[in-house]
Amino acid sequence: MAVQQNRVSKSRRNNRRSHHALDAANPNECTNCGELKRPHHVCPSCGHYGDREVVAMVDEIDLDEEDAA
Ligand SMILES: [Zn+2]
Repeated sequence: MAVQQNRVSKSRRNNRRSHHALDAANPNECTNCGELKRPHHVCPSCGHYGDREVVAMVDEIDLDEEDAA
């Protein structure tokens, strides 16, 4: 097991952690549905990227359908 050679001062520790803050996400409005989405990503609510639909969206998933058959 590694054992530290020197105690790290509060100042040095806090200076190291000064880079640890998280950045807030920067969402864009979807041009198709207006929902907020991540830039350069397919819209999760309508499946559009740019001006076309690239992921087909399913309106409703019926989980009981396969069990009945
Ligand atoms: Zn959308």
